[in-house]
Amino acid sequence: MKQALKKIVKVPLQQAAARFGAHRRNAAGPRLWILMYHRILPPTDPRYAEEEPGMIVEPDTFRMHLQTLKRHFTVMPLGEWVERARNDQPLPPKACAITFDDGWLDNYEYAFPILQQEQVPATLFAVSHMIGTRELFWPNRIVRLLQQPRERLREFPWLAELLGEEDMDAERSSQLIYSLKSLPDHELLERIDKAEAELGLTAPEHPVLLDWHQLAEMAESGLFEIGSHTCHHFRLRETLPAEVLEREVSESKQRLEERLERPVELFCYPNGDLCPQAREAVFRHYRAAVTTCGGICAKNTDAMQMPRYGVHQGSASTPIQLLARLSGWPMT
Ligand SMILES: [Zn+2]
Repeated sequence: MKQALKKIVKVPLQQAAARFGAHRRNAAGPRLWILMYHRILPPTDPRYAEEEPGMIVEPDTFRMHLQTLKRHFTVMPLGEWVERARNDQPLPPKACAITFDDGWLDNYEYAFPILQQEQVPATLFAVSHMIGTRELFWPNRIVRLLQQPRERLREFPWLAELLGEEDMDAERSSQLIYSLKSLPDHELLERIDKAEAELGLTAPEHPVLLDWHQLAEMAESGLFEIGSHTCHHFRLRETLPAEVLEREVSESKQRLEERLERPVELFCYPNGDLCPQAREAVFRHYRAAVTTCGGICAKNTDAMQMPRYGVHQGSASTPIQLLARLSGWPMT
């Protein structure tokens, strides 16, 4: 009943949000909408089917996003907005910044040409010690494990208890990944390493992440500014040893600056997780940092915890859905 009701009210609510949301009004001070993207892939690409749906926007949709955003906002680099806000310089009343997390190869293949054609700047948060490697993030390693025969997977008790009896579709594997997020990273990685070794799974044939040449080309184009997303994508929680946390924050900046020969002033918390120690370490090394909680930034927003709106194909495949998402209305 609740589901049905939600469905009935959703469309008119989205339309109202798109027409009357915060992005349509002027506020007392300048505001900034930060958008969070992960992967840009067409449905015909084999990588599409292997990814969680919440991570993808299709190239045509991405182009539509940029065109829609240009109509409603001043699209500008995140770093420029932050600098202007810090120095009390003039800011547009409604600005928007595009961000990409993780450093996926498809950002170079599909997003970069569209950003060039549309002349829209963006920020890419790279995981410094994974750039140019064949490593996978743990959720993708889980997806790969789930493609193995069910009876083999039952050999691993931590996986067996989550498998259930039904077939594993995209939604169920997303749920399974979500429930594994309660484990600390080192424990998860240990379990996955062991399972992969026992099943004889080796590194993927093709890299899924950018290499240093591609990242440098994107930075040198002038359209991309590069920020840090830690060294290894460890979630910066209290359970992470203090020295590891410090290294993840500082060494990632150092590595990116050395390889790209440009300053790295922006940071992005993996999975949006942060503890007071993480905020403090990030504050010592960066000018600003972004989270994954939705929201609109103003000049007095904590620069170490700037909210972003995550968008994906399922939530923003039309201009109305996109604008509703940015309306500031909680229900859309
Ligand atoms: Zn990430």
